[in-house]
Formats: sequence, C-alpha cells, structure tokens
Amino acid sequence: ILNIRNVSKTYQSGEHTLTVLDNITFSVEHGSTMSIVGPSGSGKTTLLGLCAGLDRASSGTVELENIRLDHLNEDQRAQIRNQYVGFIFQNFQLLPTLTALENVMVPMELRGEKNIKARAMDLLGRVGLAERSHHYPVQLSGGEQQRVSLARAFSNRPRILFADEPTGNLDAETSEKVIELIFEINKQAGTTLVLVTHDLELASKTRRIIRLKGGKLISDENTDVFQASAAGSFRKFN
Ligand code: ATP
Repeated sequence: ILNIRNVSKTYQSGEHTLTVLDNITFSVEHGSTMSIVGPSGSGKTTLLGLCAGLDRASSGTVELENIRLDHLNEDQRAQIRNQYVGFIFQNFQLLPTLTALENVMVPMELRGEKNIKARAMDLLGRVGLAERSHHYPVQLSGGEQQRVSLARAFSNRPRILFADEPTGNLDAETSEKVIELIFEINKQAGTTLVLVTHDLELASKTRRIIRLKGGKLISDENTDVFQASAAGSFRKFN
C-alpha cells in the first residue's frame, strides 16, 4: 500500500541545510501493522507526514496505493488523503467549538457526503461514545477525545491509518482502550496501521518495527509477539 524509496527531507535555514530524513527506503503491505520508533528528533513525525501526504519529500519517491504523492500539489494530495488516509494525533486535534458529533461530521461534509449525521452517530457508537455525541471536546476526557478523533479518522473508511503518538497524552488504562480500538480497525476492516510511538509495549503489538536515528533508518524488524487484543468488546468496523 505504501512504497517509500530513497526519501530525504531537508530544511534550509540561511545557508544551513538541516537533513531531517536521510535516504529512507521501505514498503508497507496492505493490512499490515507497523511502528516507527526512535529517539526524540529522529524524524518519526516528519516521516509519518510524508507517508500520509501531509508534507512533501525533498527527494525520493512516495507511493500510496500506487499513486506518486511526491509529484502532487497540496490540493491533489488532500484528495488522496480524503480517499485513502485516516490520521490521528497525540493531541487529538478536535475543533474545540464543535461537538463530538460535529467534529466527526466535518470531513464528511467537506467531501459532500449524504446522510452524514446518521453515519457520524454510527461511528461514535462504534467507539462507545453515542451518549457523548453532543459534548464539546473540553467536556470529554483525553481517551474520549481520542476516540472521537478515531471516529473522525474512520469516516472515509481509510485504507491506511496513521497515528502519531496516539496514546502519548493518555494514562495507561485509557491507552489500552484506544489501542484496542485501533487494532480492531485493523482486524475487522483490514485497515493498514502505521504508528509512531515511544511506547515499546505498543510498538511490540505491531507486526513490524522500524527504527530511526538521526534521520536514518537503522533497523527494520518483524515482531513475533503480535497479539491483537481479544479483550473488550468487538465492534464492527467496515
Ligand atoms: P519527537 O519524538 O520528539 O516527536 P520526532 O522523531 O517525531 O521527534 P520530528 O518531529 O520528525 O522528530 O523532527 C525531526 C527534526 O526535524 C527535528 O530536529 C526538528 O526540529 C526538525 N524539524 C521538523 N519540522 C521542521 C521545520 N518545519 N523546519 C525546520 N526543522 C524542522
């Protein structure tokens, strides 16, 4: 689903060139799960953004579903994101002036979809938040906000879900619930998962871990300890 070849990202400040990603190559298979780990500043978030088409590589090729993203402008990349990609962030990035329901409806509305209220309610139900649909983000716990952002990320039935430190702001118990939901999405709908995390326990739940250091890919390993959590309720995502 994802093909990254010889990708570099540099930033120019004055006559200084800062190389944030240095000649990265890897592929991700449909339906698989993968984590990107590495020290702070190693380029994880930058790499995730390039893979998801949020940003552009300075050189190299980025292919999502066989479409070259590095050739596209921002509007074209937004179209591809709408079609294939879901994204969740450490700080949830919900719109504070909108209710949970409205937050989930926004991308559907932007895509000009029909019957969006009922579908958004359905998505909130799947993350266990039907009763909280009219609450504003500030009235929700961190875990609840992340579940709203998952419902929103799932509103276009993405082929691939990118998650940047999805549990970084959550306590252990709440993290567990969010992680369960993320892996259920992979299991039930076959959605490919690519996570950035500092949490090695979470990383070990994915099939594969790639490690960055100083912008270089220094290891790429399969994990054998993969276990989709069987605990909790199984809600259907498709
Ligand atoms: P963390 O774990 O702390 O979130 P990370 O591995 O995700 O870190 P990135 O956020 O990808 O790292 O940042 C990698 C490097 O790129 C950092 O040194 C950062 O300062 C630099 N960087 C990121 N964005 C920009 C930018 N727009 N301009 C200049 N430098 C940038």
